[in-house]
Amino acid sequence: MKAKAEVVIIGAGIMGASLAYFLAKKGKDVLLLEKNEIGSGTSSATAAWLWPSDKRPEHYGRLAKASYERYMSLEEELGADFELTINGSLDIARTPEEWEGLQDLYEYDLRMGYRARLLSPQELAQEEPAIRRDALGGLLVESDGHINPFLLIDGYVQAAKRLGAEVCTYTEVQDFVLEGNRIAKIITNRGSVEPELVICAAGIYSRAIGKMLGLEAHVYPERGFCLVSEKLPPVLNHTVCGARQTTSGNIVFGFIADKVDIDCIDRRMYMRGLRWAANDAVRDFPALSDVNIIRSYTGIRCKPEDKFPIVGPTETISNFWFHLAHSAFAINAALSPAVAELVTGERTMDSMPEYAYTRFEKQQ
Ligand SMILES: Cc1cc2nc3c(=O)[nH]c(=O)nc-3n(C[C@H](O)[C@H](O)[C@H](O)COP(=O)(O)OP(=O)(O)OC[C@H]3O[C@@H](n4cnc5c(N)ncnc54)[C@H](O)[C@@H]3O)c2cc1C
Repeated sequence: MKAKAEVVIIGAGIMGASLAYFLAKKGKDVLLLEKNEIGSGTSSATAAWLWPSDKRPEHYGRLAKASYERYMSLEEELGADFELTINGSLDIARTPEEWEGLQDLYEYDLRMGYRARLLSPQELAQEEPAIRRDALGGLLVESDGHINPFLLIDGYVQAAKRLGAEVCTYTEVQDFVLEGNRIAKIITNRGSVEPELVICAAGIYSRAIGKMLGLEAHVYPERGFCLVSEKLPPVLNHTVCGARQTTSGNIVFGFIADKVDIDCIDRRMYMRGLRWAANDAVRDFPALSDVNIIRSYTGIRCKPEDKFPIVGPTETISNFWFHLAHSAFAINAALSPAVAELVTGERTMDSMPEYAYTRFEKQQ
């Protein structure tokens, strides 16, 4: 590991990996530190939908749309096939309240320039035969889809390395040496490094890293449970809310938000989670009740207190920034290049005040 770096990024999930790439592309000397394997945190336990159309309000929707647009050329840019599949998103209404919600979202999607359609129960059955027949209707947005999260993160990391970034796995940030209000040294289990700038992209683990510096990360954990089926012939035509079929044919089921204690990073699978995920899958996809489940996993979402990304300077520590977001697969391709521009000085935080870390300090 090098002794000095212009920018040290902590955490090689989708947030850290994408930022490392966009910073290296700007010519920055980047060191990416990861305590385990690349993409082994929440990013390894995602559903990996690329679903920008439900991001609200408009500023957040515009960010997600810009990310989506960047995705269209990202495989070529990175020289990586990450199984980008734009097969349209399909959400269904099980209750009158949900149907009202979908109608509202439909109006919003049209305003945002998406090609969206409300579906009657008959149209829904035609579009997605495996789905329950008693749904009140559905919303189909043509532009949404899904990706392979492992291949995407690897694509970013390999491209960053080609541009000169150094990537160190099994390198855990354990402490900081401060000089005044500035980080002079990062202490890891593999030695220390002197950074000009430190960017914490450690997802939910940023709470612990922030504490080392007396900073609140303003994120909270939420657990999700997913089930993975055996490989099947094509049975799902869209990225459905609750299930997607991968390029290899496996179906990933799961859309669960389990409230957990504020310091929870526990990713063990519980019977309760398995039952919850299986019940939801059988309820919404009765035709798939007998598929063989070969794997299950849990992930801890990193949810910002007000749901929006948290990026940029902390001010309290002059050279320490956060780079945090939920739905990071949907938005990273616009958020990370924007933050790279913040680092180079091509833009200021005034261009995205809704995402500034300092918004929380101003509230206090
Ligand atoms: C069940 C589930 C379904 C989801 N579905 C979607 C979806 O469909 N679409 C979508 O866009 N998003 C989805 N998400 C959210 C998405 O997965 C996350 O927003 C994203 O993975 C967060 O990435 P990250 O890089 O911020 O965090 P992480 O992937 O957790 O990366 C942080 C990294 O930091 C490392 N780290 C931690 N501490 C240290 C340290 N001290 N030193 C060095 N390294 C350290 C960790 O090992 C980890 O690799 C889902 C999440 C879950 C749980």
